[in-house]
Amino acid sequence: MNQFNDEKKCFVCSKQFTGRSNKIFCGINCKNHYTLEVRRNTNADSEAAMEILHKNNEILKALFQPGFQIQKLPKLLLQQLGFEFGYYTSSKVAESGMVYSIFRFDFSLEEKMISLSYNPKAEDITDLLKRKYTYSFPLAFLN
Ligand SMILES: [Zn+2]
Repeated sequence: MNQFNDEKKCFVCSKQFTGRSNKIFCGINCKNHYTLEVRRNTNADSEAAMEILHKNNEILKALFQPGFQIQKLPKLLLQQLGFEFGYYTSSKVAESGMVYSIFRFDFSLEEKMISLSYNPKAEDITDLLKRKYTYSFPLAFLN
């Protein structure tokens, strides 16, 4: 079998072409089209997620009273303010259970309350929000 003459169907335009067995685009135009489309979609997804993380962070910032090491807040209040519990920047298993982070805030969940603390050493959100996202998924291995 000649691996350079396999009949292939372009992933983007469905045109038949021949090429290496790992080639999935008929040419550079379709490859570029795909790359731009993937980037557009991932940018939209990450911007939507960053928007929610930013909102969550702003809610915690507004409610957290400096001077308290750990503060209890009602889950219901957070939900009423639009807090989305499914969005956090990291999570870890602690002795007391799961601890979730939203940038510099850490919280654990109780039945009706959250225990919130502030970690000044964690990464600052302002830098993250100012950053222009330039990461693009390396597609080189596809073609
Ligand atoms: Zn094509």
